Amino acid sequence: MPDTKADPLATPLARAPGVSPTVAKAIESAFGYRTVRDLLEHYPRRYLTRGDLTDLAHAKAGAEVTLVGTVKGIAKKMPRRNLKILEIRVGDRGGAWVCTWFNQPWHATRLPVGTMAVFSGRLMWKAGRLTMANPVYEVLREGDDPEGFANEVIPLYPATKEISSGRLRRAVGALLEPFGQVPDFVPEELRRAHRLPARAHALRTIHRPPDLAAVSKARDRLVYDELFVLQVGLALRRRAQAGAEQGHPLQGDGDLTKRLMESLPFRPTRAQSRAMSEISTDIARPRPMHRLLQGDVGSGKTAVALWLLLAAVQSGFQGAIMAPTEVLADQHFINLRALLEPLGEGGGLFGGPRLALLTASTSAATRERLRAEVAGGEVDIVVGTHALLSEGVGFRRLGAVVVDEQHRFGVHQRVRLREKGDQPHVLIMTATPIPRTLALTLYGDLDVSTLDELPPGRSPVVTHVAADESLRERAYQRVREEVAAGHQAYVVCALKDESDKIEVRSAKAEAERLRGEVFPDLRVGLVYGDMPAKQKEATMDAFRAGDVDVLVSTTVVEVGVDVANATVMLVEDADRFGLSQLHQLRGRVGRGSAPGLCVLFADPQTGEGRARMAAIARTTDGFELANEDLRIRGEGTVFDARQSGLSDLKLARLVEDFDWVRKARTDAFALVEEDPELADPAHGRLQREVMARLGDGRAEWLARG
Ligand code: ADP
Ligand code: MG
Repeated sequence: MPDTKADPLATPLARAPGVSPTVAKAIESAFGYRTVRDLLEHYPRRYLTRGDLTDLAHAKAGAEVTLVGTVKGIAKKMPRRNLKILEIRVGDRGGAWVCTWFNQPWHATRLPVGTMAVFSGRLMWKAGRLTMANPVYEVLREGDDPEGFANEVIPLYPATKEISSGRLRRAVGALLEPFGQVPDFVPEELRRAHRLPARAHALRTIHRPPDLAAVSKARDRLVYDELFVLQVGLALRRRAQAGAEQGHPLQGDGDLTKRLMESLPFRPTRAQSRAMSEISTDIARPRPMHRLLQGDVGSGKTAVALWLLLAAVQSGFQGAIMAPTEVLADQHFINLRALLEPLGEGGGLFGGPRLALLTASTSAATRERLRAEVAGGEVDIVVGTHALLSEGVGFRRLGAVVVDEQHRFGVHQRVRLREKGDQPHVLIMTATPIPRTLALTLYGDLDVSTLDELPPGRSPVVTHVAADESLRERAYQRVREEVAAGHQAYVVCALKDESDKIEVRSAKAEAERLRGEVFPDLRVGLVYGDMPAKQKEATMDAFRAGDVDVLVSTTVVEVGVDVANATVMLVEDADRFGLSQLHQLRGRVGRGSAPGLCVLFADPQTGEGRARMAAIARTTDGFELANEDLRIRGEGTVFDARQSGLSDLKLARLVEDFDWVRKARTDAFALVEEDPELADPAHGRLQREVMARLGDGRAEWLARG
């Protein structure tokens, strides 16, 4: 039970004056909000000003208009079975019109006689009456609510079918008096330096602005607050890591790393060398490294990771690399083994490092044996899945861990992992290029190395968007040509099974169809995420060996599959994927020297969808696409918001508000530098705010140090 005496904002909504238990319940089921704080941070989506409104006397028939009116009468008609017509007559000073709905009788209960509302829609003459069919509306004043809406600016709240914007507006309004005097947790001098209004004032203004000009100042303040608290949390966490942990210095310069560099079949790119030298500096210190290695698909992260693992081994420690999926763990194992071969992998003649693979499909007997060998220190480098390695494997002396997260960010996992070993150095790899603004928020507690350069000699993937089904034949023709030339193809589907809800091509059905009708002469394979591991492995092996021509799959191929001979990829229902995901997917082709082709089947119906498809066809720059994703889809949908702290960002948009990200970060890190425990009484409110926001488990590191 939250201590509501100490924190009035923790008052349950149902107990807040002016919010009925029914409304509280509806709000909780719609948005998951439980407390006054939650609802006060439910900010308007946009505002309507009286100036935007037309009155009927000046409205033109045929035009889109927005009109305020009061419901005068309701009529329900049923001209034939299966057709219910609802007609609501609405009037304003200038006259009256009729709103009509077909088979949506519930609008009558939302719009009883006497209700005042804003209606938007196209005004038409029909059967001698001015009519608006299926208007969008916003109730301003319900029939029995005499107060109504008097302001110049009408806030519109994100609403659902269960709870309207009008009800939300009233519920928020009821909270503003008793709870609106929220504490100002930002130190006065920062507030003044940025010329920001008081928090309580900003909160009131964003919900009840006197005019639109006032909104932007208020928004700045609240945006800054969100980012500032997040950054203070990150700064504290970084502090805790730096201060409390004792790590083991590793030798970046030694026999194994030297032999690796000599035996690599290529010269490292400048970016790879830079990353290795940054890591080298980190691991030489007696403090564990926490570094993010980000680089586009194919930028050569594996060699950098292996370099770190060998630095651990040559310093008398073990290394581990964790992958998010089994397919990817297998792939890492294969790649690492190949790179280690010249070094005598297997503990052989030249004392090369011993590598082991541990996944769910490792047989029980082998697993037992490997566990014992890992614990005994006979195995030097373990490759496994996250799940497997974060449970139940005890190392003798774990010195370095590489976490291949691809695009799954897992803060919790990172923490748990660090507890395992003896404070190992941690390198997190991600193939989703993270725009700088996001890296600062999402990974603000880490140092970052970026591989911003692809190895030479890559031919870029050419991407086409096929909106028209007639291009399908042509695409299949290209697949046939590539296969005839000795290459291989992917067909990626959004779903595994046929679904009756949405019309998407499922991997299973598509594999059937391609086998039967389209490529009866080719060898078509199928993989999806949760198929039996043995079967999946067998198919992937066959594909790697060139015994499968066309691999139909769900997004399991998205990460890590490295078949240089694959040159063409078809993606079904491409508009269902995020841009970063599509970029990852197409990175699977063109990995060899032959040019890659990617055909995206998509016929997006929205402007946003078309913009996204145009972006992916236009550029192969992963950073640009990640930014675009962030801009178009918002931060919460692009990354796992719950784990990252991004769900606390209600107003802040990382791309548009980058300036505020930077300012908040500078301020927060300086403040924590001065007062690492937030012990100064002047920071008491800030400390409480950070705990209140990050206190639900995400702040375990705060206490843990
Ligand atoms: P990713 O960053 O996607 O994990 P990989 O490490 O799998 O990339 O590397 C992709 C491919 O590029 C591999 O086949 C690898 O051998 C090759 N490669 C890596 N670094 C270089 C380099 N400096 N020059 C040429 N090829 C390289
Ligand atoms: Mg890789």
